[in-house]
Amino acid sequence: MFDYLVIGAGFAGSVIAERLASVLDKKVLVVDKRNHIGGNAYDHHNDDGILVHRYGPHIFHANSKEVFTYLSRFTDWYPYQHRVRAWVDGRTVPIPINLDTVNALYGTNYTALQLGEFYKSLAEPRESIRTSEDVIVSQVGRELYEKFFRNYTRKQWGLDPSELDAAVTSRVPVRTNRDDRYFTDTYQAMPKHGYTRMFERMLSHPNIKILLNTDYREIEGSILYDEVICTAPIDEYFDCQFGKLPYRSLDFQHQTLDTPQVQEVAVINYPNDQPYTRVTEFKHLTGQVHPKTSIVYEYPTAEGDPYYPIPRAENQALYKKYQELADQTPGVHFVGRLGTYKYYNMDQVVAQSLTLFSKIAGVRRSECVTA
Ligand code: FAD
Ligand code: UDP
Repeated sequence: MFDYLVIGAGFAGSVIAERLASVLDKKVLVVDKRNHIGGNAYDHHNDDGILVHRYGPHIFHANSKEVFTYLSRFTDWYPYQHRVRAWVDGRTVPIPINLDTVNALYGTNYTALQLGEFYKSLAEPRESIRTSEDVIVSQVGRELYEKFFRNYTRKQWGLDPSELDAAVTSRVPVRTNRDDRYFTDTYQAMPKHGYTRMFERMLSHPNIKILLNTDYREIEGSILYDEVICTAPIDEYFDCQFGKLPYRSLDFQHQTLDTPQVQEVAVINYPNDQPYTRVTEFKHLTGQVHPKTSIVYEYPTAEGDPYYPIPRAENQALYKKYQELADQTPGVHFVGRLGTYKYYNMDQVVAQSLTLFSKIAGVRRSECVTA
């Protein structure tokens, strides 16, 4: 007999399970259909002993002190600032587009001030910024948009940027300075011994039982519990009764090479000619020293595990139907990227789970971590 059934052992499920067990002394069963905890943030040592992320590069970044402090209970950190370069016009240049990107591509010697003027001369004014095309074209014009964003986005999402919400390409800023960090958040670091170790510590509580390799539908009816927390896709939970929510998937091709390093930075983006979107070399992220190196290629696909909700108005409208149904269904709470159909980063999912916990526990949001 459990107080809660938590479906999914990723960030959303693990945080809520930990809080319910530790603070409210609830008995929690966590079920995941995969053979491991950690959800998409799962990492492991491969056959050569290199720490890799099975589901693509996961870089922790957050502005919330609360989220960082909470996770710091379960891990120490390896300081890491993420840098990405894009393969454009036969060379790699910094992305987000910055002063060095433009000077390298155009053979110019602009200052930051001049670059601002240059962007202005290229920018196409838009009355409102609705789509992912508007975001970029209104800042830097069509040529840079085509070099860096249009084809990458078509590959990644199977849609033109004009068909996607502004939020998608808004994730990547445009800069006039030389800052080549991908993120500017206050907290940027990697779990010192990996994500999986962090999840193990989070879930290691006498009130928490974990059942892997199990779809929650297999145990429905055979295990007793009071309430459900669902981090699996919300449409699947309701048997897709209003139709399937669209998700984008990826095919990850991992490789180990007999050389200590192959890339100048952790991630190289390939916006244009390759079928993959980016290549990640893990040792940059983890700081691991090893005579070999491991990389992963990401090939976007329509079929496969649901990794990305697709941000566009019609999908949001369909999600709203499921959300309304969820609101009318007692005893089940939805949280996480798939549970709430939101293109959330890890820190946002942690914050969302903490908020859910504060509602369930009836404590103020500010107390849900200190409790
Ligand atoms: P998930 O991690 O997807 O966990 C859901 C779990 O539910 C899964 O383990 C799944 O197996 C399980 N499940 C589903 N259906 C069932 C079922 N029927 N029965 C039982 N279990 C089920 N975020 C960042 O902050 N930084 C990054 O650098 C970053 N990089 C990313 C790169 C890629 C390629 C992807 C896809 C995502 C990235 N993210 C990144 C986002 C991050 O992965 C998510 O924010 C986070 O993992 C979401 O956690 P979650 O618990 O909501 O979902
Ligand atoms: N993007 C792009 N070119 C790039 C990097 C990003 O067109 O070089 C667009 C693309 O649509 C991508 C989105 O911006 O899906 C968000 O990029 P981010 O790196 O945040 O994607 P994620 O890490 O979530 O896959």
